[in-house]
Amino acid sequence: MSSLIDFIDARLNEDARIARAVPVAKGCAPPAHWSPGADPHGAEQWVMGTFQDIDAHTPEAAEHIARHDPARVMREVEAKRRTLGLHRNCGSGSGYCDEGGHGWSAEAEGFAGCSDLVDLASPYSDHPDFRTIWRLVN
Ligand SMILES: [Zn+2]
Repeated sequence: MSSLIDFIDARLNEDARIARAVPVAKGCAPPAHWSPGADPHGAEQWVMGTFQDIDAHTPEAAEHIARHDPARVMREVEAKRRTLGLHRNCGSGSGYCDEGGHGWSAEAEGFAGCSDLVDLASPYSDHPDFRTIWRLVN
């Protein structure tokens, strides 16, 4: 069974691997960058910058897909890695949250642990390795 940190690390590695695997359009440097646009006749909405532009049917869908392009995913992975690094030792007694008095060694006590780590894991709550102990509690 993986720890919360191992789980987040694995999901970020998957996100980065998948983002890097997306083909890059001509004249672009990786990671791929997408933007919403129209086909040459203006009749369809497309996600521009893909190897073979995707028909997104509506401007809203095209914009949504383009906002989550591989270049953005890579920026998010890097930002999340910085946050993960900051909270990696929470619950050890000398972690970032421990020094603020709100970290606890929680998994053994039935709690998820550092709330920032729980937040990092929450987008992956539908992954089969996600443990219910890591669910956000309001
Ligand atoms: Zn923390």
